[in-house]
Amino acid sequence: MRLMLRSKLDREKIPANDLWKRALRESIRTVEHLDRHLKLSYEERKQISDIIERHPMRITHHYLSLIKKNDPSDPVRKMIVPSAEEFNLLGQYDTSGELSNTKMPGLQHKYAQTALILTTNRCATYCRYCFRKRLIGLETDEILRRFNDAVRYIEKHNEITNVLISGGDPMVLPTDIIERFLQKLSAIDHLNFIRIGTKITVALPDRILQDKRLQALLRYYTSRRKRIIVVTHINHPHEISPKTVAAVKALERASIAVSNQTVLLKGVNDTPEVLAALQKELLKVSIQPYYVFQCRPVKRVKHNFQLSLRRGLEVVDRAKRMLDGPSKRFRYVMSHRTGKIEILGIREDYMYFRYHQAKDPHNLGKFFRRRIVDKAGWLDEMG
Ligand code: SF4
Repeated sequence: MRLMLRSKLDREKIPANDLWKRALRESIRTVEHLDRHLKLSYEERKQISDIIERHPMRITHHYLSLIKKNDPSDPVRKMIVPSAEEFNLLGQYDTSGELSNTKMPGLQHKYAQTALILTTNRCATYCRYCFRKRLIGLETDEILRRFNDAVRYIEKHNEITNVLISGGDPMVLPTDIIERFLQKLSAIDHLNFIRIGTKITVALPDRILQDKRLQALLRYYTSRRKRIIVVTHINHPHEISPKTVAAVKALERASIAVSNQTVLLKGVNDTPEVLAALQKELLKVSIQPYYVFQCRPVKRVKHNFQLSLRRGLEVVDRAKRMLDGPSKRFRYVMSHRTGKIEILGIREDYMYFRYHQAKDPHNLGKFFRRRIVDKAGWLDEMG
């Protein structure tokens, strides 16, 4: 008890360090600002300014520094700099049925055990492939408004055993707000753990490195109250800078488990060599590979980033052959409106799948197959 009290007092004594907020304010949001760093052509300036009227741009200077400036096909560039490919409107905005799983603004409940909280529509950098493109950096009524109501919903639903705090990126919220989430959620008995989904370790690692109070409160809640897992989102080895490694180490020192979700992206990590190198690198820096997601058929994303399922499976299979032990433990999955579906393999003319999570509990674990359509990038496009 005395130890718990001391730990709480220590945590409160540490002032929040807000230098990272300045880095956020100074991030690149206009074509003119981007042009100063990347030397864009007239055509690119015009295209980017048209695109960001619809889907805003935000790039931190840290993230921008990871781009090889004289390489137009640089993978980091493709992920964060808008391109004319975004004019292609193939696809739809809500591909996983998020609106239909929304119980109140900012609270989704699709799978019995998991509640998902959309805490903000902002991130440190706006990824061009984001599956929540419909709301990132935009006016939206999908974001959490009444946190206490969300907590009451979770309290009433005993079947919920874990909460995913997501967004946008919850790590762009002030430290006090993050603490409020952790304080309230960790008091719910039937929760086993809390996950925080974030790209901050890549987009703005100083957010973690500079804010010792954030580190202290994460340490306090995970060791004294409820297990916290940080789920990072890293797609290419070039995103893992020395600062990212230091931020992950700081989380490790705070007793936080860190795992990673990757999205398979055309022109970014769509070769077995890059995907395997990424998983090896993640493990080397103490991040557990968790899922590799099929890119969703999101409007302004599908055409630019989605691989066919057939090609995706080939890349994943060949990458796994180059890996060993925990680096090949990840599952290749598709977040479909009916559930999280593992993409298992091909035999003759069929692709085989299994429900890893299911909206309808009767489907959980169900094994099924679809006749292959070569260019299909999503279950609904299969035969
Ligand atoms: S950080 Fe995450 S939520 Fe934000 S734009 Fe990137 S992928 Fe989307």
